[in-house]
Amino acid sequence: MDYKITLIPGDGIGPEIVEEARQVLDRVGEVYGHRFSYKKILMGGCSIDAFGVPLTDEALETARNSDSVLLGAVGGNVGNSRWYDVAPNLRPEAGLLAIRKGLGLFANIRPAYLYKELAGACPLKDSVIGNGFDMVIMRELTGGLYFGERYTKEINGVMTAMDTLVYSEEEIRRIAVKAFDIAMKRRKSVISVDKANVLDSSRLWRKVVEEVAKDYPEVTLTHMLVDNCAMQLVMNPGQFDVVLTENMFGDILSDEASMITGSIGMLSSASMNEGKFGLYEPSHGSAPDIAGKDMANPIATILSAAMMLSYSFDLDKEAEAVENAVQQVLTEGYRTPDIMSEGCKKVGTKEMGRLICERIK
Ligand code: NAD
Repeated sequence: MDYKITLIPGDGIGPEIVEEARQVLDRVGEVYGHRFSYKKILMGGCSIDAFGVPLTDEALETARNSDSVLLGAVGGNVGNSRWYDVAPNLRPEAGLLAIRKGLGLFANIRPAYLYKELAGACPLKDSVIGNGFDMVIMRELTGGLYFGERYTKEINGVMTAMDTLVYSEEEIRRIAVKAFDIAMKRRKSVISVDKANVLDSSRLWRKVVEEVAKDYPEVTLTHMLVDNCAMQLVMNPGQFDVVLTENMFGDILSDEASMITGSIGMLSSASMNEGKFGLYEPSHGSAPDIAGKDMANPIATILSAAMMLSYSFDLDKEAEAVENAVQQVLTEGYRTPDIMSEGCKKVGTKEMGRLICERIK
């Protein structure tokens, strides 16, 4: 089949890591008989340099007309870059907000997987790590506290600030459906995280998630309070498969989950709309400190491309082939500098990409 992919190399290490992920996709195409065609667009600092804005309407339209989007990262050195002496809506990162909004991406999916070869970077004790962990955090991205009505004003002579946390049934249902769909591709377990002992929005969340669960009899649904979830992630991370939660809880829990994997260069992510369309990107930033030095770890971006194969194109076998190839290079001891340890073989960005391509069968 033919798939149209928009590539957004972006800034810093973005172009280097996106190029490796593109080669991996081409290799998958070759081995499995698919055709991936690409259109590149500018976003972030490079778009500011070329057009004066972080994302043009034309670039957004190109992304909208494709089957999915692969992004590297945007942004420069925040303390020391010409891109930051401007209004916030003209800075590189404003491109990210604009594209997420413009493409209606409301479901953020961040896997946290511990490779046993990298377990030394995990801050948890061996007894807690056990047989490792493999979870995805599914975070609602466009509702809740970050988007509710707010003010800061003086009331009766006292400065007072208010934020509001609003969720509608529809907003909860569409993210719950996504979580159950993804659980069906995994170990068929959803843990829905809320604060239903206190918050009305959480009680509605629980009710709607339970309704959605009825359509997925094969999936086990458990509810967990957010404070307990924060503890369980570091006490027994192996129990989680799909963690479904609202915007602010997900913001915090997804960072906690990625922290316990210990390796920022390995963490993929996706943001999806109501259908199969998604924007796939590594969880890390543009790493200006190592840009252009062939030192960046391309694995997070390559694994993001694997998520695209599975979630947007339903090419599960192909996604697994990419994941297995990554696993194999790690088992063989190849490491980029960020994950290097004694006795391993140090390789650069390009060589790591090539080794992974070679192992896709
Ligand atoms: P960062 O993730 O870019 O870098 C943090 C540290 O991790 C750096 O030491 C970097 O060298 C290292 N690192 C990151 N990715 C790596 C990789 N693939 N391989 C090896 N090492 C890697 O975070 P930062 O320094 O806080 O931000 C740099 C720029 O990226 C800023 O402009 C920030 O706004 C932007 N940013 C963009 C995104 C995005 O595009 N989605 C996300 C986060 C930050």
